[in-house]
Amino acid sequence: MQTVTLNNGATMPILGFGVYQIPPEQTEQAVTGALAAGYRLLDTAAAYKNEEAVGRAIRNSGVPRDELFVTTKLWVQDAPAEQNTERAFETSLAKLGLDYIDLYLMHQPYGDVHGQWRGMEEAYREGRAEAIGVANFHPDRLVDLIVNNDVTPAVNQIETHPFFQRAADQELMSGHGVQIQSWGGFAEGRNNLFTQPLLSEIGREHGKSVAQVVLRWLAQRDVVAIPKSVRPERMAENIDIFDFELTDDQMAAIATLDTGASLFFDHRDPEMVARLAKHRLDS
Ligand code: NAP
Repeated sequence: MQTVTLNNGATMPILGFGVYQIPPEQTEQAVTGALAAGYRLLDTAAAYKNEEAVGRAIRNSGVPRDELFVTTKLWVQDAPAEQNTERAFETSLAKLGLDYIDLYLMHQPYGDVHGQWRGMEEAYREGRAEAIGVANFHPDRLVDLIVNNDVTPAVNQIETHPFFQRAADQELMSGHGVQIQSWGGFAEGRNNLFTQPLLSEIGREHGKSVAQVVLRWLAQRDVVAIPKSVRPERMAENIDIFDFELTDDQMAAIATLDTGASLFFDHRDPEMVARLAKHRLDS
């Protein structure tokens, strides 16, 4: 598996498996399938409520821990942020049944982000989070976090797909040593992504599916992707992207699909800020 090197020297697979919206009772089977298909990067979050099932699948897989790259995420929660972050981190470790996390991400750019970040820095210094990063940070918030703290996030996981490509954001992040990671790489199928004519045509030229073209396009841009699927045949399809290469013309053609706008929601939308800030996890 191709890897990227993070700003602390850690390596991360360029392609992994995401478990958002997989119900807890289906997650163990899905992750077991993904590990059997060859995925080694797993992306979960406290807010997905399926960390325990991810942990069970890891334990039963027989895959050595040091071959895995496990990401989970801190939810926006009550103050005081530093203590709360430590508690949330311990809870995630316990649910996953792990003694360290490869990458711990701040899930949303809300609340006491600097307090949360200091709590995350503590887990990083103790070596229990091998890397720390953020998700859904627009450039202004990201730079604010970087310039006011000691540790620069290793990763920013943001909505990135053919209709919202984030090239300028990627450039800014890369200038600060922050690795871009795509969530919603297929835009969850919105805008009829899987039958989009240009992507379908490029797929035909390579004997590949639209899903494979999209994941290959992300990999060629050095964007880490974590597609989600509960179907074993799609898990196998989505990891089979390392035997072909998109041409410069094809990369340039895909660039024209960018609308520059989210297909989900803007994290700067005041209504969404208020709604997510009210969302509390039970434990
Ligand atoms: P996604 O990966 O863009 O799309 C998943 C959808 O595509 C599912 O409906 C899946 O259906 C379908 N699919 C997968 N492979 C396919 C294929 N080869 N052909 C046709 N359809 C296919 O969406 P996502 O789950 O939202 O994003 C990926 C991961 O990013 C998440 O699981 C999560 O780990 C992370 N994420 C993070 C954030 C954040 O705020 N940090 C937000 C959203 C997501 P089936 O399952 O039925 O195959």
